Amino acid sequence: MSHDTWNPWHGCRKYSEGCDHCYMYYLDNQRGKSGEEIYRVKTNFNKPLKKDRQGHFHIKSGESLRVCMTSDFFLEEADAWRDDVWNIMRQRPDVHFWLLTKRAYRIRACLPWDWLDGWDHVSLNVTVENQKRAEERLPILLNLPAKHKGVMVAPFLGKVDLSPYLATGQLETVLAEGENYDGQRPLYYEWVKALYDQCARYRVPFSFLGTGNVFIKDGKTYKICKAYQHVQALRSRLQYPADNRDYPVQKRCATCHLQNSCNGCRWCGKCGSVARSMK
Ligand code: SF4
Repeated sequence: MSHDTWNPWHGCRKYSEGCDHCYMYYLDNQRGKSGEEIYRVKTNFNKPLKKDRQGHFHIKSGESLRVCMTSDFFLEEADAWRDDVWNIMRQRPDVHFWLLTKRAYRIRACLPWDWLDGWDHVSLNVTVENQKRAEERLPILLNLPAKHKGVMVAPFLGKVDLSPYLATGQLETVLAEGENYDGQRPLYYEWVKALYDQCARYRVPFSFLGTGNVFIKDGKTYKICKAYQHVQALRSRLQYPADNRDYPVQKRCATCHLQNSCNGCRWCGKCGSVARSMK
């Protein structure tokens, strides 16, 4: 299944410790803008409904869209725009919409009137960055009606035990990633391995998406540039099942031409040397 993003609004308010080095704030700052400026986008608000000259949708049937990757889908400031977005999703039941939020407590009140026990083509995903946030947000997610539910542990800031939540059988996927862009809080290999083991025990697909900027394994600290974080995560073999590629591999970096896209990072320009130190 191919993946794309759809950002009907942009900007956010920092909400918890996982937001401290929000990549959207970092990238906006690089462009001389502020991530605090929240606005409904103009040209791509109705992206899933856009058609070419022959009348065919640009977003093809069967594709998957990750929604609000530069904001939070359940952000308070977006309440006035969300009904229009639900309406767009209603018109594309052939596309899978992947929603992500830290504001789990707002989900129920923001669901559309005809949500009932969930829509087949929409998955609700909650971000947790540590055990405290998992215990705060996952019980809320698990008490909601939805056809698809998942967890993203990012930025991965502390060891987490998701066993009680995985044991419910409700969670379809677990994604994990270290802190990147402007952040450098370390990710320990042992934390990822423990989460991988939990997912394997309960047979829940697990994807380790990226090491983050600072990765610690066997007592050694590795500083890894953005372009190599996904590559090193794959090399760790902490994917369950082993061939799980549930999340898209990004486009090539225009600067270093390595595997993944790179929008600039603390070690930009040192990709080769950093990667060699990991081999
Ligand atoms: S909720 Fe997400 S988009 Fe919003 S500030 Fe936090 S990390 Fe950034």
